[in-house]
Amino acid sequence: MYDIIIVGAGPAGLTAAIYARRAQKSVLVLEAKSYGGQIINTLDIENYPVEEHISGFDFATKLFNQAKALGTEVVFEKVVDINDLGNSKEVITTKNKYTGKAVILATGSENRKLGLSNEDELVGKGISYCATCDGAFYKGKVTAVVGGGNTALEDALYLSDIAAKVYLIHRRDEFRAEETTIEQLKNRENVEFVLNSSVTKLNAEDRLSSIEVTNKDGSVRNIDVNGLFVAVGRIPENQNFARLVDLDDAGYIKAGEDCKTNCAGIFTAGDNRIKEVRQLVTATGDGAVAATNAIKYINSL
Ligand code: NAP
Repeated sequence: MYDIIIVGAGPAGLTAAIYARRAQKSVLVLEAKSYGGQIINTLDIENYPVEEHISGFDFATKLFNQAKALGTEVVFEKVVDINDLGNSKEVITTKNKYTGKAVILATGSENRKLGLSNEDELVGKGISYCATCDGAFYKGKVTAVVGGGNTALEDALYLSDIAAKVYLIHRRDEFRAEETTIEQLKNRENVEFVLNSSVTKLNAEDRLSSIEVTNKDGSVRNIDVNGLFVAVGRIPENQNFARLVDLDDAGYIKAGEDCKTNCAGIFTAGDNRIKEVRQLVTATGDGAVAATNAIKYINSL
């Protein structure tokens, strides 16, 4: 019986492990892939306090080693289900069953991709899924943003302060984003709306050089760009827990800043819960909050 089982070895889960171990709780972290979560794909982190520059890989490795040095057990197995046994929870992986007094779900979310053939290999070479992370690399350059939600339009606004030109490409002519954001963007002189259009091809040698954009009417246009920011939504990895914890329509766990779910003893931390700002620093913050509340819960049993 572990005190706390943490599902996910990203920044939120590993920070929760550090807090729980420092409170002398036994901790098992279960991770389906490799440690670090999505931050491992970021070449250069410039917005985490204290470190002016650190690669996502180095950040994740330091965090992983810190959690391990404090006595965190880590097992690389995919969690497929959880049973609520009242004062304990049974966590089922593809290989084993583990029991813990409390569980923290820190499974994160994945960027929805465009699904173009060379998309993955161009990440960090012109393709980005995070304008606030990578926008600064495109100072004075030509960028495009794909999507019609709040993220895409806010990304386009953010980039229009940095880049020379921003194309906003959306598959419809109506947006999901808030009206005030749309109006703000329309007033930016360096932003061009490309509506009823989809990105259908990424042209690159070493780096992305241009994109093929196809309009609903069948016309095709080639746009030279240095960077393409894909903001077509995210996919939270919560489906295996939907039986136990409430999710919103988009699949995010319904939990506030206290990281408590509707199920006593199950907490959540990081990008897989409903939240306004999904950043490295808010994920680690969640890890601290979730662990602290899980410890309080265990101590009250
Ligand atoms: P979103 O609202 O789900 O919007 C995704 C956008 O991507 C939609 O416009 C959608 O087009 C488009 N899209 C989806 N799949 C696509 C594909 N395969 N190819 C091309 N386009 C595709 O996602 P989000 O903007 O990331 O926002 C997620 C949630 O966070 C929302 O609830 C949003 O309001 C919230 N959020 C809030 C704020 C804020 O309040 N400041 C900031 C950011 C995000 P269609 O419209 O045609 O479906």
